[in-house]
Amino acid sequence: MPFENENTYVRMVEAGKEDEFHRKYEEALKEVESYFHKEYPNIIKEDIVESKKIKDISPIDGSEIATFQLASDESVNKAVDMLYRSYKNWYNIGYMKRALTFLKAAGMLSDQKFKFAAILTYENGKNRYEAIGDVDEAIDFMRYYAINLIENQGFIKLTGKAYKNEESMSVMKPYGVFGVISPFNFFSIGVGMSSGPLVTGNAVILKPSSDIPLSLYLWVRLMHDAGVPKEVLAYVSGSGSVVGKHIVENKKVAGIVFTGSREVGLDIQRRSIDNGPKVVITEMGGKDAIIVSNKADLNKAVEGVARAAFGFAGQKCSACSLLYVHKDVYDEFMKRLKERTDQIKPDDPRKKETFLNPVINKEAYEKFIKLKPEYNKGKILTGGHELKRPGFYVEPTIVTDLPKDAYIARNEIFLPVLSVFKCNSIQEAIEDINSMDYGLTGGIFTEDPNEIQYYFDNVEVGVLYANRKSGGSTGSMVGSQPFVGWKLSGVSGKGTGSFYYLMQFLREQSQTIAH
Ligand code: GLU
Repeated sequence: MPFENENTYVRMVEAGKEDEFHRKYEEALKEVESYFHKEYPNIIKEDIVESKKIKDISPIDGSEIATFQLASDESVNKAVDMLYRSYKNWYNIGYMKRALTFLKAAGMLSDQKFKFAAILTYENGKNRYEAIGDVDEAIDFMRYYAINLIENQGFIKLTGKAYKNEESMSVMKPYGVFGVISPFNFFSIGVGMSSGPLVTGNAVILKPSSDIPLSLYLWVRLMHDAGVPKEVLAYVSGSGSVVGKHIVENKKVAGIVFTGSREVGLDIQRRSIDNGPKVVITEMGGKDAIIVSNKADLNKAVEGVARAAFGFAGQKCSACSLLYVHKDVYDEFMKRLKERTDQIKPDDPRKKETFLNPVINKEAYEKFIKLKPEYNKGKILTGGHELKRPGFYVEPTIVTDLPKDAYIARNEIFLPVLSVFKCNSIQEAIEDINSMDYGLTGGIFTEDPNEIQYYFDNVEVGVLYANRKSGGSTGSMVGSQPFVGWKLSGVSGKGTGSFYYLMQFLREQSQTIAH
């Protein structure tokens, strides 16, 4: 069964349907308003209303989208108990039925993709191209993992015959309950991190980021409508420090899948040891770098860097926030990058021409302001200001001439801020990249194949691109470009959207019958 990426925008443009793309998205922007100004429950088989609430706020103008629940400890425990009792039945219906349920659900999500994309524009501020790409990626994860499970026959294999009178099998089985704690920046990450454990026969308690509770709430409803039993997929909203922590500390939870900051990821790992044993799969961000060689095509490089640094306002884990430019081309390249960046104006993501969206929330906006003394440790080539208007808009910012160990050059800040260093050689840049704790994505621009090979051979990073004008260090595609962090960026060493991903949710059972 061949897997194909959804890739809506590109396919529609290729089919001469660009106008239809815009029309459908704009209709959806209106349609989804009917979901706003309501209160949504937690879903633990039944709809559960809690005494404490959280608000879903739009970064577009700071307005309130909807009210969600802050799950109590009792609700989390109740959900985990239910999931724990139910996962074996879900596993025992067989891999084919589970996979087919996922393929059906993926089709349902595909039918509603413009609706989900429009909700993402309101919830996390994505422009239409990023928003539809995010929903596409969610569909891709669901399909890819289902197909992967089918192609591997549920990871059940006859093994060797130890003795003449024995028949043996290796059966990969679920662990039980997985807690999924998902980030604000991608709907698809929440979907993918839930789909892996679920399709393999585990049960899942999903706690989305408080910044995007609605899109994942609707996804859970869709999964139940597609035939995933309510008993094996629960939805609870609330903050990570309260609800997320409680999920991690529940001893019946066999595993945690987390994407987010390093601090939280490491804290989850520590707590999982104390409340384990637990399988812990964490993706903990990056400080992703691009190298521009003196043998680069500078036009490609300028576009690739601008897209990687400022796409979705620098809030992708794959965003480029660190740039090394070879000294021979430094002045020319920086002049062109500044010109390109000056064309990028942050604006309302509902507008067709908007590239740079607002940052996710008030805290992110205030962080941009608070970091100004750090930008001033170097030279602000362009940007550096916040916009004084409703919503959370900040300028794309480039800082040069920083000290090597500057805070913004060494830490993931998740803002559209790029730190730039002049380098003497590719080797020197790679050494610097390898000296960091992070190792998620990276890119190089050079027309010399030997330099590309040298880069691939030596850089300690999980996801690499050479000469990617369309995204620099960003935009991995499910099935083709496994998304995997090395070092502190991720501990499992297996990528999402990769052939190896599902293995992490399974434990082997050896079964032998003697005659
Ligand atoms: N998969 C996304 C990309 O390649 C990034 C996901 C993330 O931010 O974790 O750009």
